[in-house]
This record gives sequence, structure tokens and C-alpha cells, in this order.
Amino acid sequence: MIEFRDFSCYYKVKKGFLVALDGIDLTVGDGELLVVAGESGSGKSTLLKAVLNMIDNTTGELLIDGTPVSGIDYKDNLFAYVSQQYVLYPRMIIYENIAFPLRNMNTRQEEVDLRVREIAKELGIYHLLTRKPSQLSGGQHQKVAIARALIKHPKYILMDEPFSNLDPEMRAEMRQMLRDIHKTYDATVIFVTHDLGEAFALADRIAVITDGKIEETGTPRELRTGAKSELLRGYLGL
Ligand code: ADP
Ligand code: MG
Repeated sequence: MIEFRDFSCYYKVKKGFLVALDGIDLTVGDGELLVVAGESGSGKSTLLKAVLNMIDNTTGELLIDGTPVSGIDYKDNLFAYVSQQYVLYPRMIIYENIAFPLRNMNTRQEEVDLRVREIAKELGIYHLLTRKPSQLSGGQHQKVAIARALIKHPKYILMDEPFSNLDPEMRAEMRQMLRDIHKTYDATVIFVTHDLGEAFALADRIAVITDGKIEETGTPRELRTGAKSELLRGYLGL
């Protein structure tokens, strides 16, 4: 479970501090797929970085399974983070790109092999395992980055607009893949996006963020008829 309690974040800027998150109260339950939707600059990326304890100036509480982020060991298997700006190792074949996080942990080869093949099958990239990144399309690249993030079977998956460089058809495929993965691995996912169509297609629950504040949360079904935020009402034509 991830709990934000009256949580705020500040960036140091020339004239003092910019409030990037402003009094966030939000709980993400185990096994949930939460989509945080908001316009550019609303604080989405900051919210994920806060969960990874990458923000210096914060107030309030941010707890992971009851432990403040400052006390979390991010080297273990708890979190995977996938953004738009993933980088694959150009000289390694896809198999080794995916296996890399396990190699760092000195995992036994049989276990590595089992996991790489399993996740590659899951994501439909098994036939690419012996290729180099330069031989892959954008969508295939992104799948490899996701496979690499999932290979450690993280409890929490944080995704920062990971599909925004893909064409619409590939995006739809990736959404379905993510929903499947989320179920299979029983992971808890926070997915942030400015694409409201994507939010409604993916989410168990949507949180709308505007100017660093959570304006409303609800299931897609609840929000389709009962949205209160200007952002969603505009999108839905309410
Ligand atoms: P989003 O991901 O929704 O586009 P961000 O979390 O990146 O929003 O940014 C939220 C606000 O914080 C924006 O006003 C942005 O300009 C500001 N901001 C983000 N990163 C920094 C930084 N490193 N230093 C100063 N201001 C930042
Ligand atoms: Mg962002």
C-alpha cells in the first residue's frame, strides 16, 4: 500500500520554492491499477519521483507499506520504474538487456533463463531475444524496457507516460498487455498520463491532478457520469 498524507513537494527555483505537489491525500491499495491523469506540468512525474524518494524538499507523509520513503531500500525488488526515456544497452542482445537487473543480483543462470523466457513470452518478444536493440521498432523497444523492469517481479510498478511515443495501434496493444501483466503478477501499478482516453481505458481507478492537487478520484464508471473536475467534464462532454 502507498499512502500520501497531506504530502507536499517543493522545487528550489530562483525566487524561492515552487510547490509541485500540494497537500496530496491519496491511498493506492495493493493490487490496484491507479492512473494519475493531468495536464502537462500538473505534477504527475513529481508524484512518481516522490514515491522513489527522489525529491529533496517535502512535507507531510509518504508511506510504503507503512514505512516512510526515507527508510525504504530501493535496491531490493520492491519497485520498477518505466518512463518514456528508457535506454537499452546497444551492444547487448535483447536477452541480456532483459536479464541485466538479475545479473546485478548474482541470480543463478537457470533462474535467469527461466524468468527471461517467461516474461519474453508474456510480452510477445520471445522471437527477438537474440537481436540487438538497433534491430527493433519503437514498440518492441518499449516492450523490452518493460520486460527488464518486470524481471525482478516488483511489487510496485511506476509508469511515467511510457506509451506516449508509440502509434495508436501499438498503444492499444500495450494497454492490453499492461492489464494482463498487472493481473498475472498481482502488481500494484501507478500509471501517469496526460491522455484521458488512455486513463479511462486502463484504470481500475483514476486520480485527477491539477496544479499539484488531487481534484477527484473514482473508477472510470463513476467518473463517466459523475466527474466534477473541469478536465474530465470537458473531456466527457458533461
Ligand atoms: P508533469 O509530469 O505533470 O508534466 P512535473 O511533475 O514534471 O509535471 O512538474 C510539476 C511542476 O514542477 C511544473 O511546474 C514543473 O515546471 C516543475 N518542475 C518539475 N521538475 C522541476 C525541477 N527539477 N526544478 C524545478 N521545477 C520543476
Ligand atoms: Mg511528466
